Amino acid sequence: MSVYPYKFEPVYKEKIWGGQALERLFGRDLPAGEKIGESWELADLPEGQSVVSNGPDAGKTLNSLLAEKADEILGPGVTTDEGRFPLLLKLLDANDILSLQVHPDEQSADELGPPAKFKTECWYVLESRDGYILKGVKPGIGEEDFRKAIAAEAKGENAFGDLLQRIDVSAGDFYHLPAGTVHALGPGVVLAEIQTPSYTTYRISDWGRGREVHVEQALKCIHFESAVEPPGADDNILVSTPWFVVRRVVLAEGRKELTAPRQARGGPEQRRRAAGACTAWMTLAGKGQITCTSVKEPVSVRSGDTVLLPAGINKPSLTVEEQITLLEVTIPKTES
Ligand SMILES: [Zn+2]
Repeated sequence: MSVYPYKFEPVYKEKIWGGQALERLFGRDLPAGEKIGESWELADLPEGQSVVSNGPDAGKTLNSLLAEKADEILGPGVTTDEGRFPLLLKLLDANDILSLQVHPDEQSADELGPPAKFKTECWYVLESRDGYILKGVKPGIGEEDFRKAIAAEAKGENAFGDLLQRIDVSAGDFYHLPAGTVHALGPGVVLAEIQTPSYTTYRISDWGRGREVHVEQALKCIHFESAVEPPGADDNILVSTPWFVVRRVVLAEGRKELTAPRQARGGPEQRRRAAGACTAWMTLAGKGQITCTSVKEPVSVRSGDTVLLPAGINKPSLTVEEQITLLEVTIPKTES
């Protein structure tokens, strides 16, 4: 076994709505003066590739790592149809509202045809300065209301406010945005985003900033009746989907073996983990060191770091030096 806990160089993306919060919050060395809206923490896409920053595989892209040892990395998980890593993890720093948008579910993507591709995502709020999000439509709102609002907006009116659910957010809040959910991230929010690696975004409104909108495609994708989400089986599980399972985990100081499931008491998620699921950690607070038998040097983990723990990692253990809070993202076994 040659895999070990991987850290990667962040890929920074300048956006009109970005800022420098990641430097302030996580001590990142951001390009000076640039409005950094996104940091791609774990990415395997033509538009952004994570490059390993530690250990014997330093300098390799996530894509080449997967080409060499997909089984050891993904375990029971599988790559995308294009042979790519099946998750995209980002940090976002929004200082202005992002466009109002929607992503297709599998059925809408099929109906729209290529290049439309299914996309689902979720948000964990890291900081909110009186920030808000828009998520889903208000009860009773339908396609006709959207068409009227789009027409009104073309005349310079802002007509979407009455149609959408606005939520004031705080650090620690989690929002699942299943494919088909109309959404926009508001100003004053820094968050971690976990998503399937697809670019298919249909913009409904750019709030008068003039970027292209994709009204007809968007209307085919929007779920006007928002689904009621079943309560999680386990308090720590923020969301469990066929593509990713996200848990918030707090680890007290001390040494922990990572191969043994922390909770021995059953549940499908624990069994998956015991069987060796590919896991990514997005560290929100604290610090520690991970060791395993494949590398001599321990891998440090601290606030703001994303670490990939391959499924086939050998005897990993974690020494927590300061209580760690993290988002644990696992890739479930794909049913075939
Ligand atoms: Zn989105």
